[in-house]
Formats: sequence, structure tokens, C-alpha cells
Amino acid sequence: MSDDYDTRREEADPEVIADLQLRARTQRERRSVIADLAWQAPIFVASWKCRHPKCDERVAVTQDVVHQLEAFSAELVRRGGRPIPADSVLVCATHEAAVRGFRAEKLREQHVRLAANIRELKQLESPGISVDLLAKIRADHHPDVEGLIGAIEARTVRRSGKRKAASL
Ligand SMILES: [Zn+2]
Repeated sequence: MSDDYDTRREEADPEVIADLQLRARTQRERRSVIADLAWQAPIFVASWKCRHPKCDERVAVTQDVVHQLEAFSAELVRRGGRPIPADSVLVCATHEAAVRGFRAEKLREQHVRLAANIRELKQLESPGISVDLLAKIRADHHPDVEGLIGAIEARTVRRSGKRKAASL
């Protein structure tokens, strides 16, 4: 029984073949769609390499996108930075999901870190003086660090006010 199963698997898994065929077809269709669009409306002025290091797929770009990158790079150079290479900007359709997943994972990690640091900050009597913790929270792009400090301090004042009232 199990021998039978293994042999069949080694021959050719119909699901794998179907998958490979679908991939090939999608690739072809995508290429022809891009070619058609370029022909109908010649707005793609360049194609940039996918920024995934192991991918050679190219992504068609419009004049607007080219101008945006040029303007952005010029601004960086003006500030003493380096221009952005065109092949570090876009991802192809194949790698788009992977990049999006990576971003989502980074964002999730950032939120977990932020929540832990805010919890820690809330334990402090004077959150405004905890330079390290505040730097970490700012690094994770908390939208309103000053507001956060204010809210924690206001609560601390209220609490100590209540304590005083209770001891009277
Ligand atoms: Zn790619």
C-alpha cells in the first residue's frame, strides 16, 4: 500500500504539474498584458529591476515614477546624501507578497515592542525623565510621545492626589 503511494508520488504529482502549468501561463499572461498596455498607451518609459536581490524580473515604470525618483534623489543629494538606485525601489508581482508579509511582520514586532515599552513607562513616577525608554518609543514611531508622557504624568498626579486625600 505505502509502496504504491510512494511510486505514484515519484512519477508525477498531477497537482504539482497543474501548479507549474498555471505559473507558466500566469507569467506569460502577465508579460503579454504589460506589452499590450505599453503598446496601447506608451506611458512606460523604463523598466527597473525587482529589488529582490535574487530576482531579475523587471517592472515597467511611467514617466511620473521616473520623475519622482529623480526629484527625490536630487533632494537627497542636495542634503548631502546619495541618490537612490532605480533597482532598489520596486518589487515584481512575484515578490510583492513576500515584501508585504515582511513589512507586516516588522510592523507587528514594532507594536509588541512599543506596547512593552509603554507598559514600562507607565510604571514610572516621572516618565518624562526616562531618556532611554522614550528614545526607544520614538524609534518605533509612536505618534505622540509628549502626549503619552502628559497622560501618564496626569494620572500619576491624580493618583498621588487621591493618596493624599485618603491620608487626611
Ligand atoms: Zn522579483
